[in-house]
Amino acid sequence: MSESDTTDAGDDAELRTPIVAVLGHVDHGKTSLLDEIRGSAVTAGEAGAITQHIGATAVPLSTISEIAGSLVDPTDFDLPGLLFIDTPGHHSFSTLRSRGGALADIAILVVDVNDGFQPQTHEAIDILKRTQTPFIVAANKIDTVPGWNPNPDTPVQETLEKQSDRAESRLNEQLYEIIGQLSDEGFSADMYWRVQNFRENIGVVPVSAETGEGIPDLLTVLMGLSQRYLKAEMSIDVDGPGVGTVLEVKDERGFGTTLDTVLYDGTIRADDTIVVGGKNEPIVTDVRALLQPRPLSEIRTEKQFEQVDAVRAAAGVKIAAPDLDDAMAGAPVRVVRDRNLEEVVAEVRAELADIEVVTEEQGVVVKADTLGSLEAIAGTLEEAEIPIVRAEVGDIAPRDIAVASTAEDPKHAAVLAFNVDVLEDAEREIEETDVDLFADDVIYQLVEEYEAHVEAIEEAQQ
Ligand code: GDP
Repeated sequence: MSESDTTDAGDDAELRTPIVAVLGHVDHGKTSLLDEIRGSAVTAGEAGAITQHIGATAVPLSTISEIAGSLVDPTDFDLPGLLFIDTPGHHSFSTLRSRGGALADIAILVVDVNDGFQPQTHEAIDILKRTQTPFIVAANKIDTVPGWNPNPDTPVQETLEKQSDRAESRLNEQLYEIIGQLSDEGFSADMYWRVQNFRENIGVVPVSAETGEGIPDLLTVLMGLSQRYLKAEMSIDVDGPGVGTVLEVKDERGFGTTLDTVLYDGTIRADDTIVVGGKNEPIVTDVRALLQPRPLSEIRTEKQFEQVDAVRAAAGVKIAAPDLDDAMAGAPVRVVRDRNLEEVVAEVRAELADIEVVTEEQGVVVKADTLGSLEAIAGTLEEAEIPIVRAEVGDIAPRDIAVASTAEDPKHAAVLAFNVDVLEDAEREIEETDVDLFADDVIYQLVEEYEAHVEAIEEAQQ
């Protein structure tokens, strides 16, 4: 029943794997769900057994169909599988961008069935709306609902339908509460088996990251949604020069500074020259090694990574190369190969310029770990009418404190820090000046803490 509307993109065109991100409130089970999906892939006996996170993990169609059993017939699909972003949360979601848009093609919004919508659930929905990313809801932790009788070998729909014979089924009530909360957010939502059009309606899939119940259903829905609505966007030039986004800049023993990258177009090869967004200027460097995690079954030595000659989109890959110290998470990576170097550098520069943070003559100093989070905080501060004098990716350095200490207005003598450390010299400066430091890894909390501080100052002034 393969769809016949193939996209015409030349001889080298192929369909890439859709990129899936996992979002939701803290402790609702994002990490567990990703682990469970990866774990199922391992159990299903594929070489997908990943111990190291390098940005994203591919789960091939054959594995999905093995996990999903009768729910997925592989001959119905021509997409190669699903690529899951390893780091969950809207922080990495906003970091991963492709030419100004969201990098993820679909998202799973994880909601704890007992807890319902929480602040970060709403934040995640705002981001998904803004980026127009299609998503489904994983109503997680169904195993903890009183009265629920797990039945891991049966699709969760069947189990639920049997149990809902008891009119007061607690899980059903909670699921309908979530559907109601989605409708308050302006979405028409329903249980996934009643949704006809996943682009217009949000499907809710009851799951347990603990027992694995509902995971086959979840993968089936994701695969179906991708095949039906995303296929046209998945066409890439497989032999073209690779294009990706840096998720993390990491030191790796034996390799120096490396980039965990999600490649979303073309191919990167071990002998390529690449251009990467840096703190000051685009970095031009030669790939030294392309690394991917070894399958669990092969890790007998300390070597967790294997070197590969080439990686094709969409995929997670760790890039080792000289001169990467100034590379930034959230920055673009582009392969030069037979293209004009200056042209590629100009593209990287233009992509960086797209990430907009407006600074003023007076305001607070903002430091964040990635370009995406910097932009997200800047956006939140702009909405709250809090001006920014300096915004940068990186740890808090003495220079930041120096800038904050020259503020004319005492409420601007502040550094707002998201997911970064304070360098030792800077700590000393903080003690010696009137600069206040606000640090948090939840954006709305960071802004709230600062707002409370401003209120206190204003009250003291009255
Ligand atoms: P995250 O902050 O969203 O990544 O949440 P975690 O995956 O770290 O999960 C938070 C806690 O909930 C952990 O203690 C998990 O073991 C637990 N948890 C996650 N999913 C489930 C589930 O489906 N059932 C049960 N019983 N516990 C879960």
